[in-house]
Amino acid sequence: METRIIDGVALSRRIRATLRDRAARLTARTGQPGLAVIIVGDNLASKAYVRHKVMACADIGVRSVHLELPDAATEAELLGRIAALNADPAVHGILVQLPLPRHISAGAVQRAISPDKDADGFHPLNVGLLVTGGAGFVPCTPAGVMAILDAEGVNPWGAHAVVVGQSNIVGKPLAHLLLQRGATVTICNSKTRELGSHTARADILVAAVGRPKLITGAMVKPGAVVIDVGISRQTDSRLTGDCDFASLLGVASRLTPVPGGVGPMTITMLLANTIRAAERATESKDLR
Ligand code: NAP
Repeated sequence: METRIIDGVALSRRIRATLRDRAARLTARTGQPGLAVIIVGDNLASKAYVRHKVMACADIGVRSVHLELPDAATEAELLGRIAALNADPAVHGILVQLPLPRHISAGAVQRAISPDKDADGFHPLNVGLLVTGGAGFVPCTPAGVMAILDAEGVNPWGAHAVVVGQSNIVGKPLAHLLLQRGATVTICNSKTRELGSHTARADILVAAVGRPKLITGAMVKPGAVVIDVGISRQTDSRLTGDCDFASLLGVASRLTPVPGGVGPMTITMLLANTIRAAERATESKDLR
């Protein structure tokens, strides 16, 4: 079987072109859409992620407000900044880069962001809407995976989807999105016995763990669609996914590479959430 390698960079570029048009329409009509990104502390990886997000905003015509707080910033200080951004009509999306220093509660921060400006989709209200099938904001990586499946014409309806990893930001929300689209979903975690016996039954297999080469060709049903969310840095500093890429060639019908698969889609979905928040703010202004 020939394995089609899914090009997340090309798909991102296509989606971003439509987002650029929507941003331009908003700018002409009510003002430029704006995303505020807050980073606390000096985590180098977080700083790199934030730089990419700021550049992606500029690329499609979204104004970005970038706030850097020192590692010693208090939770109250951070919540105060979030409250100010919640009240700022020129800011439509807010995200606080994780991880946060230990003395700051990520839960408190996620609850403080207005659900209407929740660009990361982590607010409990949006999590609840996701679980109950409502129209809230969806976390960016799971949204990116669903956009890849749609672009590839892979319909989850009736398929057996296996999600390996059950984090709040990737595995759990993705499992709910797949359920909503009619898949039968199995979720695996670090306690799962005989992981391969589950993965081998997947029509759609998503690996979101962070363990290089956890998924090998022998664990995958021939013809399965395999989406690799994992990102780990190897000792030679190259990035690698959760899948043993070479051993899946000829087994999977479609496969995302790392890098260049899900990664670019995550930032694109952040932009999509921001544009959608700005459009919703404009619509509610129109109704007043
Ligand atoms: P996380 O919070 O560390 O969660 C990892 C999950 O994997 C946990 O649910 C854990 O199970 C499970 N797990 C660990 N070892 C396992 C094993 N041997 N078999 C089955 N499941 C196992 O990580 P995350 O934030 O979800 O991220 C997962 C990976 O995706 C990481 O590599 C991360 O860098 C990457 N990521 C990529 C993007 C992107 O844009 N491409 C975005 C976000 C994350 P327990 O719950 O039992 O501990």
